[in-house]
Amino acid sequence: MDSTLLGDEALDAIALLREAPERTCVLSDFDGTLAPIVDDPASSVPLPGAMEVLHRLARRFTSVAVVSGRPAAFLAAALGVGSGASRLGAYGLYGAERVGPDGEVVIDPETEEWAASVTAAADELRDVVPPGVVIERKRTAATVHWRSAPEHELVALDLARGAADRHGLELRTGRMSAELVPAHAMDKGAVVHMLASEARAACFLGDDAGDVPAFRALAELSRTAGTKVVRVAVASRESPPALLGEADVVLDGPKAALAFLERLAAEP
Ligand SMILES: [Mg+2]
Repeated sequence: MDSTLLGDEALDAIALLREAPERTCVLSDFDGTLAPIVDDPASSVPLPGAMEVLHRLARRFTSVAVVSGRPAAFLAAALGVGSGASRLGAYGLYGAERVGPDGEVVIDPETEEWAASVTAAADELRDVVPPGVVIERKRTAATVHWRSAPEHELVALDLARGAADRHGLELRTGRMSAELVPAHAMDKGAVVHMLASEARAACFLGDDAGDVPAFRALAELSRTAGTKVVRVAVASRESPPALLGEADVVLDGPKAALAFLERLAAEP
C-alpha cells in the first residue's frame, strides 16, 4: 500500500468510515476509478490488488459494491463477483443490471423493453461513424468512444445525439465518450440511495460525469438522514468540474483510489 498518495482529508475520511464497518457502505465506480482508462474499453482491467481489496472490504463492511455503466456480467468477471469470495456486489448499466453474491445477473424489466431501440441506434451508428470511433454495444445501452480518434469528437457527438433523438433514447456524456441509454434510465444516484439509505456512513468513489448523481444521492442522505458521507473524486486531466466541486476528497488517479481502499480495509 502506498500511503503517500493519501492526504490528510483522505485519512480523516477513512477514519470516519472505519468507525462502524458493520453499518457502512463502500461504493465505487469501475473505469477511471479502479481501472486505468485505456483506448479499447474491452481491454480494461482493474489495477492489480483492486479485486482482492474489494473482497476484503466486503467481508467487513455492510455493503460493498461496484456501480458502473458497464454490463454487470463484465464487472462480475473482472472482479470475481459471485465467486463465493465475499458478498461484493456489482451494479451494471447504472443499476439496470445487478449481480448478487450468487453470481446471477438480474435485469430491470423496464430497461429491457428498450433493447430493440438501442440495437437499432447502435447499428445505424456503426455504419456512419468516422474511422477510429468505436461503438461499444451493451444489452440496453450503446457507447460511442472517440478516445482513439479525438479529432472526430464533434462529429461523433452529433451522430450520437441524432441517433438518440430518432430512437427516443437519452444521451449521457462521459470521458471521450457518449452513451445512449433508455429514456428515464436509472442513474448511479438511485443505486446509492437504495444501498446506503439505512447506513450510518457511506462513501462513493468516481471519476466522471456519471458519478455526480451518486455524489448528490449521498449529499441528500446526509441532509435528510444524517448519514456520514464521503464523496471521493478520482481526478484526471479530464475530470468534470461538477465532480471535483462536489467532492469531499480528491485523489490523484486510480492508484490513489486503490491506496484509499487498502487503507480502509487494513486490519485495526
Ligand atoms: Mg468511471
